[in-house]
Amino acid sequence: MTRQRIAVLGATGSIGDSTLAILAMAEHNFEVYALSGHQRLDKLFALCERFRPTRVAVPSASVDGFAIRLQAAGLSIDVVGGDEGLNDIATDSEVDTVVAAIVGAAGLPSTLAAARAGKRILLANKEALVMAGQVMMDAVANSGATLLPIDSEHNAIFQCLPLDVQQSRTHIHDSKHGIRNLWLTASGGPFLHKSFEQMQQAGVAEAVKHPNWSMGQKISVDSATMMNKGLELIEACHLFNLPEDKISVVIHPQSIIHSMVAYNDGSVLAQMGMPDMKTPIAHALSYPERIESGVVPLDLYEMSDLSFIKPDLQKFACLRLARQAMQAGMPATITLNAANEIAVEAFLAEQIRLTDIADINEQALSYGTAEFGTRIEASLEDILAMDARVRMHTQHLIAQLTRRA
Ligand code: NAD
Ligand code: MG
Repeated sequence: MTRQRIAVLGATGSIGDSTLAILAMAEHNFEVYALSGHQRLDKLFALCERFRPTRVAVPSASVDGFAIRLQAAGLSIDVVGGDEGLNDIATDSEVDTVVAAIVGAAGLPSTLAAARAGKRILLANKEALVMAGQVMMDAVANSGATLLPIDSEHNAIFQCLPLDVQQSRTHIHDSKHGIRNLWLTASGGPFLHKSFEQMQQAGVAEAVKHPNWSMGQKISVDSATMMNKGLELIEACHLFNLPEDKISVVIHPQSIIHSMVAYNDGSVLAQMGMPDMKTPIAHALSYPERIESGVVPLDLYEMSDLSFIKPDLQKFACLRLARQAMQAGMPATITLNAANEIAVEAFLAEQIRLTDIADINEQALSYGTAEFGTRIEASLEDILAMDARVRMHTQHLIAQLTRRA
C-alpha cells in the first residue's frame, strides 16, 4: 500500500474520532495531511498537537486566533477558514483521500469539491447525497474520483456487491448482476419497543441515547425518528443506482448484520461485525486491501438471537416521507433534508417534541413540492438556494407550532 495523504473534514466529531483512531494505528500507511473542525476548537488544537497536519480548517472568525495559538505552541500549520478553506483542502493537490465527515448540509460544498477534483472520497456525510445525489455521482464519474461509502449499511452493501460494480466499472444491471433487492438494516433506535406516546414525551437525553452506536447528536436524533434510515435509503438509491422500490428496510435490533444484497438465485449476502464504525472506515481506508481496525472480533457463540422486524411506518413516518421524497425527485429530497435539519435543531433546543419532527418534515415537503416542482437546475448554487428557502419556511412552521403550544 502506498502511503496515502488524508484530509479528515469533521475531525472533531464521532466519525473523526473513529477515523483518527485507525490512522494513529497505521501511521506507516497514512499521513494525516489536513484536519477541520467547527466547534470544540480545543479538541482540534489537541489533534493538531498529536497529528501535526500540514493544514487545518476552522470557521472564518477563528482563523487568526487559532493560528496564533498554533504558533505559540511551536506548530507550523497552515490555517484556512470557512467554506473556502474547506474547499481548498478538499481539492489540495497533495491530498489523496478526503474523509467527508462533516454533519449535515454544511458538508456538501467540500464533498462536491473533492468529487470534482477526482479525489478518493470516504463518504460519511450522507446529507451530501440526499441533497445532490445526481450532481455528486456525475461529478465522481466525470472526474474519475473514487467514492467509498463508510456509512455502515452502505459499506456493507458495497462489500456484498460484485467486484465490477465495486470498482465502478459498471452500474448495477438487473439482468447481468441478478440483484433482486438490497436489505438496508436499521436498529430501530431507542423507541423501537416504546409507544408513540412515550416517544412524544421523550426528552433530549433519552432520544440521543442509542442502544448500539455512539454517534453525534444530529444522527442520534435521526436514528430515534428513523429519519436516518430514510436518508440512508436515498443515499443508497444514488450510490448504487437503484430505484427506491429495490431497497427494503428491515429492523434488526442487534446491529450485527449491517445490510444485505439479495440475488435472483435466492442467495442473500450479508456483511456482519460488531457495531463499530471503525470497521467500515478501515475497510474504505485500505480498500481493496484489509488492515487492523482495533474492533473487537465478532463472537458468534455470543449471538444467540439475531431478529428481524418490519418497520411501523405510522410510528416512524419519516421513513415513509423519505420514500415519497425519493420518488418525487431532487427538490423533494433537498426539502426533506433541510426541514429535518432545522426540526432536529429545534428538538435539541427543546422547542418542539420528538414526534413533531415528522409533522414538520411532512408539512415542509408539501411546501417544497408545491413551490419547486420536481426538477431543478443541477448546480450547487441552485441547491443551496433551495435549501436556504426551505430552512426559512421550516423556521416559520416551528414558530407557528410553538405559538400554538
Ligand atoms: P458529529 O456531530 O459528531 O461531528 C460533526 C463534525 O462536523 C464535527 O467535526 C463538527 O465540527 C463539524 N461541523 C459541524 N457543523 C459544521 C459546519 N457548519 N461547518 C463545518 N464543519 C461542521 O457528527 P458525526 O456523528 O461524526 O457524523 C458526521 C457525518 O457522518 C454525518 O453526516 C452523519 O450522518 C454521518 N455518519 C455518522 C455515523 C456515526 O456513527 N457517528 C455513522 C454513519 C454516518
Ligand atoms: Mg448508517
